[in-house]
Amino acid sequence: MNDILPEQSSAWQYLEAKFQAVVASYGYGEIRTPIVESSELFNRSIGEVTDIVEKEMYCFEDRNGERLALRPEGTASIVRAGIEHGLLFNQTQRFWYRGPMFRYEKPQKGRYRQFQQIGVEAFGMAGADIDAEVILLCASFWRSLGILDSLTLELNSLGSNSAREQYQSALVQYLSERKEQLDEDSQKRLLSNPLRILDSKEQSTQALLDGAPNLTDYLDEEAAEHFASLRSILDAAGISYKINPRLVRGLDYYNKTVFEWTTDKLGAQGTVCAGGRYDGMVKQLGGKATAAVGMAMGTERLLLMLETLNVVPDQVSQNLDLYLAAEDKGLQGELMLIAEQLRSALPGLRIRVHCSGLKNVLNKARQTGAEKVALVKRAADGELVATLWHGEEVIRDISIAQLSSSL
Ligand code: ATP
Ligand code: MG
Repeated sequence: MNDILPEQSSAWQYLEAKFQAVVASYGYGEIRTPIVESSELFNRSIGEVTDIVEKEMYCFEDRNGERLALRPEGTASIVRAGIEHGLLFNQTQRFWYRGPMFRYEKPQKGRYRQFQQIGVEAFGMAGADIDAEVILLCASFWRSLGILDSLTLELNSLGSNSAREQYQSALVQYLSERKEQLDEDSQKRLLSNPLRILDSKEQSTQALLDGAPNLTDYLDEEAAEHFASLRSILDAAGISYKINPRLVRGLDYYNKTVFEWTTDKLGAQGTVCAGGRYDGMVKQLGGKATAAVGMAMGTERLLLMLETLNVVPDQVSQNLDLYLAAEDKGLQGELMLIAEQLRSALPGLRIRVHCSGLKNVLNKARQTGAEKVALVKRAADGELVATLWHGEEVIRDISIAQLSSSL
């Protein structure tokens, strides 16, 4: 879990502001949900035998003995909120969110135990057009950050639940006959969650899968049409993609479209954004059957990528415009008021007041990198006057009124 310090937070703010501008341009509304939910919510939606639920959730009992969890992702909470507030039945909704997620993982570059996701969820729309919109929205965001060319869109369709089950039996049959060639994890998954074997990072397992039945061949007609229609919208919009028939995602709730945006710029943690369709979840969590599609992206990985590609713009605008200090003791109260007046007269200006010892005050002021420095003193006639530095240029003994007009 990381602290984000002021020198880093400007890059966070930059990225978040870009995302907010993009989601606003697609007409999405922000939803904020609590970071704590009943653990049961995630067990039911993400799936009992997924990595997240089996080993990554932070679970605890509250004083009342209720089983709670720090949320490991956003989708389940948003579905819960949607059902609870009657936002899903017979309506269409487009939400966006951002916030911390928690997973007890092995920390490494691009993988943390508290990390930030930003994402969107769209409800009540069953067609491929909304899948395309979610992907196009991602592409707009990448374009606005200047990283579209460094990302690859991988796409797959998981088909209907029954098509997926048929495929799963075929896969299990194929792999059971070759069980001793599978890595240990995949052998376990053969019983608990066979589709996840497609996701295995083991070379030998991937080689074995080369001869396995192909998910694409098992797609039901409706899912195949949906997939074709999605591809044709993306083609028309000029979004390139790679079909990856082994893309299954680590959460159980997806059907039809799944996708990931990946990069080779970050080493092992190359997935910066992932999403797909999850038409079954609303009903599974107690609502009426509702079509749904969404995506989530990891903010830390995106920031690493921006850094690696050196596309974070200069943060000059974060610098102080004015550092204001007193030259002599006893003026601090008046100095505070001058600063207040300047702030209300010149909204948007960043003004910091010196509130510690006056020794070497000019040097201290300059070290802050402020664009201008003003030192205030009392003149012989009793009026307050200032000396204003702009780099090496100095204007001496100007009145406070003149100070305001020279900023
Ligand atoms: P991965 O395969 O990298 O573990 P995932 O399938 O668990 O990812 P999702 O649950 O789909 O990921 O989350 C969406 C995005 O959130 C990921 O693509 C990634 O960018 C980010 N993410 C997931 N887990 C972490 C983590 N522990 N630390 C930082 N970012 C993360
Ligand atoms: Mg994971």
